[in-house]
Amino acid sequence: MISLILGSCCVMDEHGLFYALDLGGTNFRVLRVLLGGREGRVVKQEFTEVSIPPHLMISTSNELFDFIAAELAKFVATEGEDFHLSPGRQRELGFTFSFPVKQTSINSGNIMTWSKGFSIADAVGQDVVSELTKAMERKGVDMRVAALVNDTIGTLAGGKYDNNDVVAAVILGTGTNAAYVERAHAIPKWHGLLPKSGEMVINMEWGNFRSSHLPMTEYDQALDNESLNPGDHIFEKIISGMYLGDVVRRVLLRMAEEAAFFGDTVPPKLRIPLVLRTPDMSAMHHDSSPDLRVVGTKMKDVLGITNTSLKTRKVVVELCNIVASRGARLSAAGILGILKKLGKDTIKEGEKQKTAIAMDGGLYEHYTEFSKCLEGTLNELLGEEVANNIDIIHANDGSGVGAALLAASHSQYP
Ligand code: ADP
Ligand code: MG
Repeated sequence: MISLILGSCCVMDEHGLFYALDLGGTNFRVLRVLLGGREGRVVKQEFTEVSIPPHLMISTSNELFDFIAAELAKFVATEGEDFHLSPGRQRELGFTFSFPVKQTSINSGNIMTWSKGFSIADAVGQDVVSELTKAMERKGVDMRVAALVNDTIGTLAGGKYDNNDVVAAVILGTGTNAAYVERAHAIPKWHGLLPKSGEMVINMEWGNFRSSHLPMTEYDQALDNESLNPGDHIFEKIISGMYLGDVVRRVLLRMAEEAAFFGDTVPPKLRIPLVLRTPDMSAMHHDSSPDLRVVGTKMKDVLGITNTSLKTRKVVVELCNIVASRGARLSAAGILGILKKLGKDTIKEGEKQKTAIAMDGGLYEHYTEFSKCLEGTLNELLGEEVANNIDIIHANDGSGVGAALLAASHSQYP
């Protein structure tokens, strides 16, 4: 499960202008951050978010990175005077790239596989930093990639910068992953020099977890078979935002086929993969109107199913609840695994320090029933006393700021 090990980071005195680029799923974000050192911290930040045109997710490396570099160029062009760059300096960038990478140094790493709906064959095996750098040169952006991280490492760095109790970061967005701070001597795989801090960060790539103890239904099996990466990222396919809605669709389709749940004919749109997106599922799940109006509208607008009865709508909500709860409870189980590994699932005599987990991602942020269930399950698993010592922190946009911080701490300038 461990695919990359990075030295632990972040003193607090980084300062100056740094950029970050966050590519992890459907959207990508470009940020600039003005760091003010130990006192000022993050003085100012600006960002822009762009959605990746779907055809670029399955195109070529040059096409994808040219698009990214062109958007970066546009954003740099809007840099105001207040984000002053020291004279004679080249701009520096932290690159958050949230796909499996075999990291070879702080600013290089080869793409191992794609996930989350991306599939760009000619990029596999390539150094993602040099792909980006070449595209920046083609687009006339003079910037150095100082750090390559993924969203979990960025969120962990950003989270720890804000709160020293943070020991792990979990992403629940389009996909899912986690990273945590480990004592270096507890990493048998590591044969290099031990860092001064005695700590290292482990990127778990937990989205790719699978186990015979992880029950898969026939819906999960079919979803996996028809995905762009069959056999891979099974945990991610059961719990993350890219897939939850599609699990619901598959169950509804089966109910339509075998129990005439929507009447005598099977609504044709139910057969379209990924047509029911997780934000639509969550809107239905959160519908609090007495006649479940939102469910009725979504059924009609998304699936072309008109005139659903209240009884039918109630079943749809219950189905959303089942699928979301399964994902949330499994996410909580993953977090418990990290806490256990760190010995934080019990309270030691006299220990005062709290344990905090930095969470980010659109699923966690917007799907309230999901996050409530996750937190409730964690409390259930840990028991009240231990749970009171664990803080779940929403590290909003931590991955971008964290990448800028890591770029700063690996700057070419002293
Ligand atoms: P990424 O994981 O692509 O970096 P985000 O962290 O912004 O991006 O997460 C986006 C994902 O979050 C979407 O793909 C979707 O699955 C999920 N999401 C966004 N909005 C909602 C919502 N309102 N309800 C449930 N899930 C949502
Ligand atoms: Mg992200």
